[in-house]
Parts: sequence; C-alpha cells; structure tokens
Amino acid sequence: MQNNYDVIIIGAGAAGLTAGIYLSRAKVKTLILNEGAVGGQMVLTHEIANYPGVENISGYELARNMKSQAQKFGCKIRSNIKITDIQLTEEIKQVTINNKETFTSDAVIISTGGKSRTIGAIGEDKFKGLGISYCATCDGDFFQDKEIIVVGGGNSALEEAVSLTKYASKVTVVHQFDHFQAFEHYVEEARNNPKINFKMDSEIVEFSGNEKLNAVRIRNKISGDISEMNIDGVFILIGYVPNTEMLRGIIELNGNNEIKVDNNMATNIPGVYAAGDSIAKRFRQVTTAVADGTIAALSCAEYVHNNKKEPLEV
Ligand SMILES: Cc1cc2nc3c(=O)[nH]c(=O)nc-3n(C[C@H](O)[C@H](O)[C@H](O)COP(=O)(O)OP(=O)(O)OC[C@H]3O[C@@H](n4cnc5c(N)ncnc54)[C@H](O)[C@@H]3O)c2cc1C
Repeated sequence: MQNNYDVIIIGAGAAGLTAGIYLSRAKVKTLILNEGAVGGQMVLTHEIANYPGVENISGYELARNMKSQAQKFGCKIRSNIKITDIQLTEEIKQVTINNKETFTSDAVIISTGGKSRTIGAIGEDKFKGLGISYCATCDGDFFQDKEIIVVGGGNSALEEAVSLTKYASKVTVVHQFDHFQAFEHYVEEARNNPKINFKMDSEIVEFSGNEKLNAVRIRNKISGDISEMNIDGVFILIGYVPNTEMLRGIIELNGNNEIKVDNNMATNIPGVYAAGDSIAKRFRQVTTAVADGTIAALSCAEYVHNNKKEPLEV
C-alpha cells in the first residue's frame, strides 16, 4: 500500500465512509483508517427504519453497502488498526498506525464517532438492543403500547421521556438524585404528562429476561431497598462520550470533549476537518453523520485543490 494520500479519514462509520465515497469519486486519493470493524455504530443496529429511501435495512448491511461503494470508487480502507501517533498541525499531516507504518496527507477528516454512556449494571451488555436502547429517536417506535423506563435526569432524558409517551403506554423515569439537571420547562412538561411517573433517588442495578429484557431490579439509594419491576424496554439517556481522547491538546474541543467545527466542518487546524458523532452537535443519527461526511469531503476537496492547484472534479 502506498503511503502518501491527498486525504486521510480517521474512522469508518457512516460519516467517514460517506466522506470516502465523495472524495474517491472526485479522484482525490483517500485512505480511511479505522480502529475495529468497518461500519462503526451502524453495525450495532439490528434494524434501521429511518434512512430515507431504504424502508428497512440492518445496520450491518447498510455499512457493507457504504464500504463497497467507497471501495468501488478507489478509496483504500485499513481496518482493525491502532493509531499510535498523529501530527496534524504541519502542512503535511502524518498518521502512524501500529507503531510501524506512517501515512502522510494534505488534509485529514476526523470521524471517530462516539458511544452512549452506560450505567454498568448487571445484564446491561446482554440486553443491549434486546430491550435496552440508548436512542429514543432510533428505537421509540419499537415500544408501541409497551411499558418502558427512561434512565436519566438531564434535558435529553426528560425531553425524550415526553416524546416516548407517543408510543409507550407508561414511562417511568428513574433518576439517581432527588432533583433533575434539566431546564424547568422540560421538568414541568414531564411532570404534567399523565403517562409519566418518577422513581427518584433510584438506580437500576440489574437487567434480566430470557431472550429479551423483561424485568429490572431498582435500588433506592437512600433506604437501600431493592424492588423488582416488569418492563418491556429501558432507554438509558445519560449522555454521550465522543471518541476524541487522542485529539485532546491537539484540536479544539468543547467542554464535552466534542470537536468544534464551523459550517464547513473545518476544525481550528487548517486542513483538518471533522464529521459525524464526534463533533459538537445535538442530533446523532446516520443521516446527520452522512450529511456531515458530505460537507467535510466537499470542503476538504476544495482545500486540497487550492493547496495543489489540481483540477477539482467533485
Ligand atoms: C444501538 C444503536 C442504534 C442506533 N439506531 C439508529 C437508527 O435506527 N437510525 C439512525 O439514524 N441512527 C441510529 N443510531 C445512531 C447512528 O448509528 C450514529 O449516529 C452514526 O452511525 C454515527 O456515525 P459516525 O460515523 O459519526 O460514527 P461511528 O459510527 O461511531 O463510527 C466511528 C468509527 O471510528 C472508529 N474509531 C474511533 N476511534 C478511532 C481511532 N482513534 N482511530 C481510528 N478509528 C477510530 C470506530 O471504530 C468507528 O468505526 C444508532 C446507534 C446505536 C449505538
């Protein structure tokens, strides 16, 4: 494999693969480097029912299609690698993988995504996607007329608790403190909704079921009492962790460690762009990642063109 590219993309989720499709189709020499399997969070998703034009598809299949589309246009992809060194501030960017191979490029797109915060209770890993969800927009619709729990006490937990009452017959908000960390209007709206009730000072300590989740054990943090509750689904909405550890001190991040970008997906470093779930934004979906990846690719192609004065074929 050659070592010099026009653009290196870090992360092969929806954002990175989209950027790879656009850049390679525009004949911009592009390499995608990905830790783990190609597809990112898409491959954790059994069913995607809100990608426009595709009524129903497994996340794995959508990821596979994006990957082969990028490769068809000539995009190179290296997966299951570890980035061990990264130099972004000079005109020529350098990325070293596995402590032994170094790649250079004129520009870099960071699309390293992120992950939802977990509560770490017994059974949480086992029932992920089998009753436990971290995304109300993605999965709310699967809980029509079911009884569900929302874990959390911030803005998104309360906002989503209200929105989930469109589907669920009953929503119980389980929160670890006796007060919420949300705007008053979200709290009021949730309190006034007859389908929502609250378990304060409480935490889920165990998820159980057979093939799917059907019960949780909840501990009252003041009394220590444990109660059991039969439940069809649990939405854990306690925040998001972007995969930006390796960028700390290099690129400008906000207080949540999300990458700050402008409307062109440009970061504070010339020639470095970012896209998808790792950037500072409100809605994290495949469609928004794909949109960010498109904008980053087009901006990046223009940057490479201006640097090299080569024809732009986007
Ligand atoms: C269970 C679940 C269900 C979902 N359901 C839906 C749905 O139905 N509809 C919808 O629109 N959205 C859904 N989403 C959200 C959607 O999947 C994400 O918003 C979207 O896929 C994010 O894409 P991304 O490319 O920004 O990041 P990611 O998908 O997170 O991809 C980032 C990639 O970067 C790699 N990476 C991370 N760090 C490094 C590093 N240091 N070096 C190299 N590579 C790195 C990762 O391995 C990963 O492959 C769901 C998410 C989850 C978790």
